[in-house]
Amino acid sequence: MPDAVGAVTKGPGRQPEGAHGTSASAAPSSVARADKETRKALLRSRFVGCLVGGAAGDALGAPVEFLRYPEILARFGATGITGYALAYGRMGAITDDTQMTLFTAEGLIRDGMRRALGNRGTVEGLVAAAYDRWFSTQTGRPPRFGRDGGVLEWPPAGDGRSQDGWLMSHDDLHHRRGPGATCLAALEAMTVLGEPATNDSKGCGGVMRIAPVGLVHGWVGYEPRKTMALGKALAALTHGHPTGAIAAGALAVLIAEIVRGRDVKEALACVHECLARERHGANTEDALQRAEKWAQQCPDDPVAAIPHIGEGWIAEEALAVGVYCALTARDFSDGVIRAVNHGGDSDSTGSITGNILGALWGAETIPASLLEPLELRDVITELAEDLVAFAKWYDGDPGDASHQPDHALRARMEQKYPGY
Ligand SMILES: [Mg+2]
Repeated sequence: MPDAVGAVTKGPGRQPEGAHGTSASAAPSSVARADKETRKALLRSRFVGCLVGGAAGDALGAPVEFLRYPEILARFGATGITGYALAYGRMGAITDDTQMTLFTAEGLIRDGMRRALGNRGTVEGLVAAAYDRWFSTQTGRPPRFGRDGGVLEWPPAGDGRSQDGWLMSHDDLHHRRGPGATCLAALEAMTVLGEPATNDSKGCGGVMRIAPVGLVHGWVGYEPRKTMALGKALAALTHGHPTGAIAAGALAVLIAEIVRGRDVKEALACVHECLARERHGANTEDALQRAEKWAQQCPDDPVAAIPHIGEGWIAEEALAVGVYCALTARDFSDGVIRAVNHGGDSDSTGSITGNILGALWGAETIPASLLEPLELRDVITELAEDLVAFAKWYDGDPGDASHQPDHALRARMEQKYPGY
């Protein structure tokens, strides 16, 4: 396990009380001495923080996703929305952003299991199959693809449902929560697992779901270039415009760098390097530069700054609004409150901001008021913990025994995440 996870939570210039990690001045040598259990706990905190934090930002934004800013003020008063409000018939309701993030994580784990078992396939194919299961939760249409990646006969002759796995067994994931039209259409049209979508969309539906790529790939065998490529490839399953994919690759790298102990500014430096190598990286680069400029010039007035960065309906703007909020947040709550109080795609910008700040500061910095009412909190936490277990052996050579899980872990994981 790399030492990097224990290396720091410097914060984006501001750091909340209670944020985990060593202080900004901690020497690398002291980090290296951190015992294994401490590092494991820090890694868990970042993974759970990223997924639960994203869900909390999503749920905070859900009631105002389709409201203009003056409408938010009219409904919630001069401070805007500052806590959960009723959406989809309950408090703390998650939306499609969180649902799809969970299926991204599930697909990545199942791809790791595929590799451990020596099954055929690709990571794009396995995550596409996970998105097909999400499509199924939204439409009631059974999952279409079988163990071999081929289209299933339906009804299946044998164990059709056995392929669904643990995640899909949760009935509360099967609610429609404003699923993106582009994602639904692309998945409906998908005939070959892992093939990129043929549309020209750069909606934020690719970037909003991509954080698990950064969690998993920030780990063993990390290379920013590969993380960028995988983030792009998984977003391109539903979004055909280059920027729809590149913004997702950028968030994956950002999360990976943060999990490895960088602060947001340091992580952004790596993202900029990656974008400079992208032929179509200019849209995303420009949006991030706007976010950083406004974070520097206008850190205390997000209501004034965010409209200059974007509304978040398109991928690079959703990422940029998330980055502005992460750079200027005083604490986790402040960050996600900033991220949802504008006239744009509040649940997606809330989700991305929550992903970043949760990975940066850890699960302990998410307040109980956002944690306790959060829908599917236990499922999200358990999936994040499974990602921790999985991240340790994911990227190893399948033939390298040192990267294989122990037998009990492997049996449990295989039950929950079949390798196809
Ligand atoms: Mg949504």
